[in-house]
Amino acid sequence: MKLHTKIFIALLSAILLGALFQIVGLHEWGLAYLAPLLGLFAQFFLRLLSMIVIPIVICSLICGIVGESRLGSLGRLGLRTVLFYLLSTFLAVMTGFFLVNLIQPGVGANIEFTESPHQTIGAPDSMRDLILRIVPKNIFDALASFDMIAIIFFTVFFAAFCFTVAQESRERIVGFFNAILEVVMAMTLFIISLAPYGVFCLVMNLILETGFSAFLPLAKYFVTVFAALTIHFTLVLPFLLKITTSLSPQKLASAMAPALLTAFSTASSNATLPLTMACAERRAGIGKRVNSFVLPLGATVNMDGTALYECVAVIFVAQVLGYELTLAKQLTIIFTSLLVSIGAAGIPHAGLVMMVIIFKAVGLPLEATGMIWAVDRVLDMARTMTNVWSDCICMTIAAKFENEIDLEIFNGKNVDVSIK
Ligand code: ASP
Repeated sequence: MKLHTKIFIALLSAILLGALFQIVGLHEWGLAYLAPLLGLFAQFFLRLLSMIVIPIVICSLICGIVGESRLGSLGRLGLRTVLFYLLSTFLAVMTGFFLVNLIQPGVGANIEFTESPHQTIGAPDSMRDLILRIVPKNIFDALASFDMIAIIFFTVFFAAFCFTVAQESRERIVGFFNAILEVVMAMTLFIISLAPYGVFCLVMNLILETGFSAFLPLAKYFVTVFAALTIHFTLVLPFLLKITTSLSPQKLASAMAPALLTAFSTASSNATLPLTMACAERRAGIGKRVNSFVLPLGATVNMDGTALYECVAVIFVAQVLGYELTLAKQLTIIFTSLLVSIGAAGIPHAGLVMMVIIFKAVGLPLEATGMIWAVDRVLDMARTMTNVWSDCICMTIAAKFENEIDLEIFNGKNVDVSIK
């Protein structure tokens, strides 16, 4: 059976089984006895994934950049990548903006605030803070606290300066990091084989812990975010791929399916990154140079789903509170949603935490984020999948422009058996 079919079955059976527990009244029992066990395995799987993220990002970025013969061609790839990332994120925000104004899910809604644990993740205080965080004060501190933007900044900086030393030293550096990357990739392939079980435990545990009742008062809001994400996922992004490369979005989706389903289940772009990179190379035929540069960067800064969600959620809260949004404030929301998504970490709930910045920018009360906390996890799963999908689309466009795509693998032939 194909890997993505296995993951899909795991996901579906977790949802059905979770629903069944609710229907036959076994929910309490499941929560008491089953959830801790499922949670344990789910955490085990997540930890395995996050354990290899930093080595993969550092080694692949250094190999991708320093393995390059000239810094100039990397500059071209970098520029294309950043431009696409900005364009796709902007389109995502506009889709969300349009739908939330059309459906107006918050008008007339009566929603209670629940406790919001957003302080625990430590949101930056302001835009200034967000920008300053790019440069690590201490690289070991950044590594220990999983600060991906700072880690990427240091690595790219380091890699760029490798061009100032003698060719021989540069080759030694690439050889060293390449060797580590090979080992880490082998570890990744092993962890990927556990994905169906990990996904099952994550989703079943989530359903047991959340239940379905939290969704009712927020149904309209939920549907708005979901509809906007669906439009961006199934229409806007595939359209961008089709007009720029004429490659099939369906084929790409099928190649990247294990990564997309894992993104949905883990709600973390970072945790999914090892899978995204392995699928890109072995199932979609994307050249190492492109995928090792575009994907780690994308998992950290390109978050279409998050940007869209920020925009919808803030306008929704303003609608519920009857808070008037002037044109200037609406533009502020669009602009800050884009920036905040760039700064958000690829971990669960990061988008909700970062929303505080937009609330401050437009003058909404911070406690009001508590209003949407109850349904955040499921929306997080959907927006993370969109985030990863956007990275995949950008990577494929870049690979086509750079002529670094193996079309046989992309079209489903010669796919590596270990990750079929
Ligand atoms: N969980 C998302 C991600 O990892 C970020 C977010 O919370 O929006 O991509």
